[in-house]
Amino acid sequence: MPEPTPLDLPEGDPFGPHNLPYGVFSLPGTGRRTVGVRLGSHVLDAGAAAHALGSPYASLLAQPTLNPLLAAGRQAWSDVRRALTAWVTVPAHRDTVARFFHPLSDVTLHLPFEVADYVDFYASENHARNCGEIFRPHMDALTPNWKHLPIGYHGRSGTVVVSGTEVIRPAGQRKAPTDEVPSYGPSVRLDIEAEVGFVVGAPSELGRPVGLSGFRDHVFGLTLLNDWSARDLQAWEMVPLGPFLGKSFATSVSAWITPLEALDAARVAPPARDVPLLPYLDDADQDEPAGYDLHISVAINGHVVSEPPFSTMYWTAAQQLAHMTVNGASLRTGDLFGSGTVSGPEYAQRGSLLELTWGGRDVLELPDGKRTFLEDGDEVTLTAWAPGPDGVRVGLGEVTGRIAPGA
Ligand code: CA
Repeated sequence: MPEPTPLDLPEGDPFGPHNLPYGVFSLPGTGRRTVGVRLGSHVLDAGAAAHALGSPYASLLAQPTLNPLLAAGRQAWSDVRRALTAWVTVPAHRDTVARFFHPLSDVTLHLPFEVADYVDFYASENHARNCGEIFRPHMDALTPNWKHLPIGYHGRSGTVVVSGTEVIRPAGQRKAPTDEVPSYGPSVRLDIEAEVGFVVGAPSELGRPVGLSGFRDHVFGLTLLNDWSARDLQAWEMVPLGPFLGKSFATSVSAWITPLEALDAARVAPPARDVPLLPYLDDADQDEPAGYDLHISVAINGHVVSEPPFSTMYWTAAQQLAHMTVNGASLRTGDLFGSGTVSGPEYAQRGSLLELTWGGRDVLELPDGKRTFLEDGDEVTLTAWAPGPDGVRVGLGEVTGRIAPGA
């Protein structure tokens, strides 16, 4: 029997050859960052393997970020993925490729791409209704525009951080309705938002909207995303112009970007539309379903508090992309757009503590004590899986972050 290698995976491993997410890693003591591809609990030095195999993609892969690959466009993404699949499955490549794996426990993972612009949406009807009922109990839960356009805002790309980065409790100005005057201090209502982030590869031209059918040409892949939110800062500042400092202190993304091609078996139709949509958003006649059947799990200190189903999202990522560019705004390589908090219809499917505790009214019982919002030292981890080919699961790389005390 030959020695087992990183290519010998347990049956049904969610990070098997059907998945192959991309990241950027370095080895201890070298500081040299390079593109890696995850297989099981190992990472393949993709550039080094490409070079050893005489691949034409070596120059796209031997890079300190994914941006050159992202910019190369859809045909290159397919070609590179096909090559990688062959390298990890065809016996003739086996001995060569096996030399370029490192155990994940031996490497440092970095933010895998340079984030260009960051936009966050609000696409879950369950989440929007819950927020409406919590914040505006005497008004309609959904605003009049909600079913006509995907609501979003431009966030802060410079504070998008990779999984594992500590999140320092933000300080700011807040004023509860019962307070006479505003005060300043560390947030006492620090929360999470379980989301999925979409990563733009190919840019678009200024003045030229990207329609629904352009989604797969421009979007490279997706990643789990935690939109940390200071509810007390947010509540005081956000009317009338929207989220600002209550969100901009940190947004965490996974170290792994899952290419859309790995998720072909996970596509599902979005929920039925209740109102007719304008033509640029109307996806009734699209060839392929535009939703994704992602099963997300939210854990605090290892205890699962929620399992939000991404398949329930009202607005799809393709509609968000079409809306984001319908005014002629261009896309840049590395643009990131978040889905908005994913919340299903059930209690245990809510993607934020705001909803799980109903604005802090209720208490969440955890094995290590009661919570309304996050305490210093709490570690929040999002994981997810999607159906893959032949019944195998596609794992999404986790995104985790621990709360550190504020300054
Ligand atoms: Ca959000």
